[in-house]
Amino acid sequence: MIIDLKEIRKKGKTEEDFDFEYFPVSPLCSIPDVEIAPPVKVRGTLRLVDKVTVFAEGEVRFALEGACTRCLRPAQKTYTAAFAEEFSSAGEEDAYPYRSDKVDLTKAIDDLLILEMPLTFVCGEGCKAEYSDNKEKEV
Ligand SMILES: [Zn+2]
Repeated sequence: MIIDLKEIRKKGKTEEDFDFEYFPVSPLCSIPDVEIAPPVKVRGTLRLVDKVTVFAEGEVRFALEGACTRCLRPAQKTYTAAFAEEFSSAGEEDAYPYRSDKVDLTKAIDDLLILEMPLTFVCGEGCKAEYSDNKEKEV
């Protein structure tokens, strides 16, 4: 998820929309038997604030799949999370670093996913603790 600021400047623009499909390499979900179902969708707008500061905001959409924490049935659920992050090439604190006019969103998105990860994974509001075949399966 690398954005080349030179390309944006070359077009004479100060902001540009981005849209990525991201396949996380590190395991970001700590719920047992549950994983992120890739790709994670990342979209938003990147704004050049000044020569050393860039601001990115947008939305991340990700799906989890695996065993419901309560009833153990397989389930898949989609989550969305908003982000607004500053990137700095001047070593600014509280900002993600970037170098050589290339902003990589990966670390910021990984951090966001960890932060937004639910603590439990329940298949649906109607989840009954015991598995029952009489009920329609919820997905
Ligand atoms: Zn369940």
